[in-house]
Amino acid sequence: MNNYDFIVIGAGSAGCVLANRLSKDSSNKVLLIEAGGTDRRFYVQMPIGYGKTYYQKDINWMYMAEPSPGANNRSSYWPRGKLLGGSSSINAMVHVRGNPQDFDDWQKAGNPGWSYNDLLPYFKRMESWQDSDDQYRGSSGPLNVSDVTDQLHPLCNNFVSAAEELGISFNADMNGKIQEGVGHYQITTHKGRRMSASRAYLRPIMKRSNLTVITKALVTRILFEGKRAIGVEYAKARKLYQANAKLEVILSAGAVNSPQLLQLSGIGPESLLKEANVTVIHDSPAVGKNLQDHLGVSYFYKSKVRTLNNQLRPWWGRLWQGIRYVLTRTGPLSLSVNQSGGFVRTRDGLTGPNIQLYFSPVSYTLELPGKRAMLSPDSFSAMLLGVSSCKSNSRGQIRIKSSDPTVAPIIEPNYLSHDDDVKDLLEGVKLLRQLAQTESFSKVIINEFRPGPECKSDAQMIEDIRDNAWTVFHPACTCCMGPDPLKNVVDSNLKVHGIEGLRVVDASIFPQLICGNINAATIMVGEKASDLILADISK
Ligand SMILES: Cc1cc2nc3c(=O)[nH]c(=O)nc-3n(C[C@H](O)[C@H](O)[C@H](O)COP(=O)(O)OP(=O)(O)OC[C@H]3O[C@@H](n4cnc5c(N)ncnc54)[C@H](O)[C@@H]3O)c2cc1C
Repeated sequence: MNNYDFIVIGAGSAGCVLANRLSKDSSNKVLLIEAGGTDRRFYVQMPIGYGKTYYQKDINWMYMAEPSPGANNRSSYWPRGKLLGGSSSINAMVHVRGNPQDFDDWQKAGNPGWSYNDLLPYFKRMESWQDSDDQYRGSSGPLNVSDVTDQLHPLCNNFVSAAEELGISFNADMNGKIQEGVGHYQITTHKGRRMSASRAYLRPIMKRSNLTVITKALVTRILFEGKRAIGVEYAKARKLYQANAKLEVILSAGAVNSPQLLQLSGIGPESLLKEANVTVIHDSPAVGKNLQDHLGVSYFYKSKVRTLNNQLRPWWGRLWQGIRYVLTRTGPLSLSVNQSGGFVRTRDGLTGPNIQLYFSPVSYTLELPGKRAMLSPDSFSAMLLGVSSCKSNSRGQIRIKSSDPTVAPIIEPNYLSHDDDVKDLLEGVKLLRQLAQTESFSKVIINEFRPGPECKSDAQMIEDIRDNAWTVFHPACTCCMGPDPLKNVVDSNLKVHGIEGLRVVDASIFPQLICGNINAATIMVGEKASDLILADISK
């Protein structure tokens, strides 16, 4: 058996941070094990390549969630990254920290040390924001965050002025002092290439002699001596291996696979484990529960002016943009399609934003099986206005259906099972229509073609939400942090309740979803966890 001080399972957004920070001290021997392979691929590195990697099965777990009754029994497709960088290697790169209140709520849920003030130093330490180093932003961290305002489609200005017409202020930095308002999204790229957690944290230090990175290795279970984690078993090239962790095993397999691996290893709801014939190490009822996700809905508008559809639909347009990208690393292929957006309240009496807005100068309404619609924009000039909830009141769960680690777990998102989630989206889509009717937009919009004017009563709009709302790929909270071993999986030091030598560090530990995209907060969790771990070993 190979011996290490730390074993990190999963080289995703959080796992790459841990591999870097824990191996900085050359006396710590660190093993990072990743189920997928390399991230050195053209479509991973080219920002808009996420349209392609969305369905690439050698680098994507390609999960299918169970039907949700609240979403008219539709199932949803859940891409998750299976390669170095994890989901940060296939995501849409929108960089949003979340609302300061989100983290204050995490602290109030019984997690000392997790208020926004406690976490701000980590948000600063992780990033290289090109504009400045001030009270809120960092300029020398590993993760480059780009301001791409000068490259955005001109219609983004119509979006901002439309919002201003409705009294929503422009916010030049939604990751600065205040999150609320509308503006242009910052993205995790550097010089036109994706800045994944792997590129930021792992690639630069991969040659450290005290760091071992094993790829294409599926961790099949965590090994225990009594209630202490002592190592892992993993499968690589059809053989089983074991590795030993002298200090800690750290589970960073993401919101789907971390609870799955805990359950496979005997930590989870006792009845579920027994049903699956897994030997119970520790009855932890909350493992896999509390699943939350952001749901989005888009409204589509035909445009009087040319949009990315005109640039990316014809083959010669794609060829031209491809040449431009290869030669200059600029143009639409160097960006996310989510160019502008914001955070707003749709009614009085709320303490913070309840809705996130998206504006994309592109439309894709034709679903092609096995191919992301984004790759085949509509054949006419058009754009989309989108909305997603900031929080979710609906709760789902992840549970194993077999003790076989190669069998996908059952994902039950239970979308739209809470009336408040429907209400937020209904008010959100009404806001989209108000935006479309402003002077700034009506001068460039021909008409709304999906869902279209026939969808006009509240009942029709709700039905459309139930028929079309889609994950925006932010599952979280399935190993949620908190003080109660019956309701929470890890404590505020991210240690698994009732177990020694085992932490969970990834998006699964969020107590509740944050307002906005979650990659930045997951990287922050990795940064904070590395300090907690290093502080513990120096005692
Ligand atoms: C299509 C898409 C678009 C997105 N867009 C955005 C966006 O624009 N902005 C944003 O902020 N967020 C976005 N997200 C979400 C964000 O990227 C993820 O929430 C975040 O990367 C999760 O980080 P993580 O560390 O929790 O898990 P991951 O990054 O998913 O990492 C988990 C890693 O563990 C590995 N693993 C799992 N099980 C095992 C095992 N048994 N053995 C070994 N290895 C294992 C996986 O292969 C993976 O590499 C998007 C996600 C997707 C999928």
